Order: sequence, then structure tokens, then C-alpha cells
Amino acid sequence: MTGPRYSPMLARTADAPFSSPDWIFEVKWDGIRAVAYANPLSILSRSGSEMVGQFPELDEIRELAPECVLDGEIVLLRDGRNDIQALMGRFQKSDPRQIEADSRSLPVTYVAFDILERDGAPLIHLPLEERRRILEEYVKEGKYLVRSIAVQGEGERYYAEVVKRGLEGVMAKRLGSPYEPGARSGSWLKVKALKSCDCVVFGYTRGEGVRAGTFGALVLGLCDQGKGVYIGRVGTGFDQADLEGITSMLAGLKAGEPTLTGTEKGEIVWVHPRMVVEVAFHSVTKDGRLRMPRLVRIRTDKKPEDCTLDQLGAEQNLIPYQARRDFTMTPEPSGKKAVESRGNSFVVHEHRARHLHYDLRMERGGVLKSWAVPKGIPEAGGEKHLAVETEDHPLEYLTFEGTIPEGEYGAGTEAIWDTGTYDTLEWGEGKIEVIFHGNRLSGRYALVRFRRPGKKDWLIFRAGDS
Ligand code: MN
Repeated sequence: MTGPRYSPMLARTADAPFSSPDWIFEVKWDGIRAVAYANPLSILSRSGSEMVGQFPELDEIRELAPECVLDGEIVLLRDGRNDIQALMGRFQKSDPRQIEADSRSLPVTYVAFDILERDGAPLIHLPLEERRRILEEYVKEGKYLVRSIAVQGEGERYYAEVVKRGLEGVMAKRLGSPYEPGARSGSWLKVKALKSCDCVVFGYTRGEGVRAGTFGALVLGLCDQGKGVYIGRVGTGFDQADLEGITSMLAGLKAGEPTLTGTEKGEIVWVHPRMVVEVAFHSVTKDGRLRMPRLVRIRTDKKPEDCTLDQLGAEQNLIPYQARRDFTMTPEPSGKKAVESRGNSFVVHEHRARHLHYDLRMERGGVLKSWAVPKGIPEAGGEKHLAVETEDHPLEYLTFEGTIPEGEYGAGTEAIWDTGTYDTLEWGEGKIEVIFHGNRLSGRYALVRFRRPGKKDWLIFRAGDS
């Protein structure tokens, strides 16, 4: 078979899940998109590279889907989870013996979701449902070849299920639509899974209508340095059992006065912050509210104090850094660029500002946790220096050197005094202990927070005998 080569049909992005009888919904797999030509076997990536040699286990496609051209995704499933790292690892192997061994120890699966040709006859002009019928009739499932499951109509329910399983999202495909090679068509939509975070319930609003006996929305917060921070409300995603279960749990937690500040206007029934719920969301607004939140599940296995603000991601943590700077004036990085890093880098800047000081910055959670150390990092044991916590800096700052102009925040010259990596021995709310591997800074150090809540003062000193 040496018929035409097909470029995979592409999808547009939908903002939110939806339900419609005119659409089918499938899991959006996170893997390598591949068009498979059965005879002779050829499996081509989007860029047209041949992957047959890379994944010898997919040889079974020749017999299970004879004379077919399939569209699908190569995925690597481990313990029921989609392991993209392991898949990329396999994709990069070149030693044939290694490839052969991996095909047995870490086999991939080809998830076929469309059929483009059978017996040399193109099928792409046929409506989606007809192609799916042919796929189910002529393509047999095997050890490494499966057909994608599709459900019709109930996109929102399906999406909720997919999110619960930690999958990447949902593909929505319009019934009646042809296969459009290479086109980013509105007939295929991807609905990406939301991020999720574990939130503490601080109160609720009263329900109306069918929810009169339960509640309207839950008032959510996260913990930041021992205090609650309001992040919005969640009013959707509850089934009847959730509504009733949560209502009865909240009944025992009622508080006489507000347990959180910063909420929007409106009547709130306050509760003691003991209950944790996992909430999925689309993104975080500029003022730190969850956009499109929806309940995933009640979490009885997580403590409220462990529901910290840093779950919202590095982006959120850089808001104070960005708010203080005018990037048309300062040469400092904006924090908008993706940076490759080792995950445990540190840098110490010598900062000749109004007063000379040193800035210690350690990579954690996608940002640089930062302290200004007026007297520098102590080199001898027994000395304890003040270290004042400052706003998180972007990873781009690991390599930054330059002069911040007069009148700007932090005006003065910043030069790298030392940089390297560190190992964490302990990283707690009040104590951090690490081993630095730098040129000047090396060995075991501790940072201990002053015992005054809300204060940003720490002490840094050499720890142990290293
Ligand atoms: Mn500084």
C-alpha cells in the first residue's frame, strides 16, 4: 500500500466542557500523535518521522488492522497513569538492544481514534460516526492496539470523570464531520483538564431553589504563613450526595464570626476552617481568585494547614515581584520566560543598593525563594546573621546581573557572588536546612524564622560539622 500520506487533523481549544447530543467525547491522551499505515507498516509522527523502529511492539497493527490507515496516539500507561516522561525516554533511545528491552519492560499502546483508509479506499469524507463504525468493525484490539472509547452527548459528566482520573482533558468531535487532514478545524475541540488544588472551606452562602436545604457556594481559602487567604467560591460540581454530605459536615463547624477576610460582599455563614475540598479551576485571576472553579471531591485525608497558597503555582507567586517593578525601566527579568533549571539551583547576589547586602535565592516550586542578608552569609560556625525574607523571584534571576536605575525598586548594581545547587534536609514553615554546593558557599546551613508570627525575619547560620 503506497497511497497518500495524511497529516493529522488538528483541534481548536474550547474554554469549557459542554454537553451536546451532536458531539462525541473522548479522552485527550498526552502522548505522541501518530498516523499508522498497516501494510507495509509505517507509523509517522506529526512531523513525518518514522517511528516503527522505535516501538517494535506496535508491529501487531499489521495483523489487527490489515490494509487500514489509522489516526491515533502513542501513549505509555503505567499503573493506569499516562507517563509522558517514560514515553519521551523511549522516543529518544537509539540502541536497538535497549529499544527491544524497553518494548518489553515499558511497552506503549497505540490508541486508535479514527480510520482514514481501508483496502486502499479513503474514508476521510465519511461522517465521523461512520468512520467510527468502520473502526470498530475492522480494527481488532490487541496487546498494544486499542480503540479509543467515545461517549455521545454527556461531555460535562465525562470531563468530570476524566479530571478525577488525572488525565489531560477531553476531545470533543462533531458528529457528521469529515476528517480534514492538517486542518485545525472547529469540528474537533480540545477541552484541557483544569488544574486542581486542595482548599479549606471557611464558610458558605445560603442555597436557593433546589439547593435551599443545602448551600449555594463554598467560600474557599488557602493557608499562607499561618493565615487564611481568600481565593473565591465554588458553586458547581456537586452531586446530591456531595451537597448533603458537605451540609451535614458544615453544620458541626459553624463559627459565630468571620474566619476569613477579603471576601466579596454578600452574606456568608462562617465555619471553622477544618474541611478540605479539592477544586478544579481554569486559571487564577490577577487578584488571586480561582477562575471557573468546580468541586472535584471532599478530602478527608488532608489537613487544612497543608493546603498552602503555593499550590496555585509559580505564576501566582510572582505577582508581588512583578507588581513592584516597571520592566520598561529595569533590566531585571519579567518572569514570563520559561527557564530550564535543575530544580535545586541557588544564587547569591551581591547587591550594591542604598546599603550593600547579599541576596540569597533558592529554587523551589518553580520560583526563587529569596532573602536579603545585610551582613552576608556567615562563613564561620557560630555566627548568626539576619536574613529578611523578600518576594519570590523568577528563575530567570539565577543568571541575572546588571544595574537597576536610580528611582526604581532595588536601584543599584547586582552581581552574582556565587551560584550552584543545594540539597534540602528540611524545608518547613519555620526552619530550612540545606547543604549548598557552590564555589564559595558550601556545606550545611540552617535558616530559622524568628518566633514572631507574620514576621519576615530569619537567622542564617552554619549548621552541623560539615
Ligand atoms: Mn536586594
